[in-house]
Amino acid sequence: MIMIYCRRFHKPKVMPCERCQELLNYALHRLTLCPFQEGKTTCGKCRIHCYKPEIRQEIQKVMRIVGPKMLLYHPMLAIYHLLDGFRKSAKKSIK
Ligand SMILES: [Zn+2]
Repeated sequence: MIMIYCRRFHKPKVMPCERCQELLNYALHRLTLCPFQEGKTTCGKCRIHCYKPEIRQEIQKVMRIVGPKMLLYHPMLAIYHLLDGFRKSAKKSIK
């Protein structure tokens, strides 16, 4: 998603640009540190906001812009992601 965003909005000579590379590194890094791991829901619904505020804002911007386009680029992935978030938050609210 970050790559799509970068290509479309930053049009860097080298993909991804420095800023997006940082976002990407951060996202991957935090993902491995997320305490929920297996039981993890989508990050939008995660109780712990793992991103630093400024990076989180940046990521949210990417999600907002590229999110709807995910249906075009990776329809199955986007649908699974939606279902995953729905299923896990539904389960949580029953408890
Ligand atoms: Zn970029």
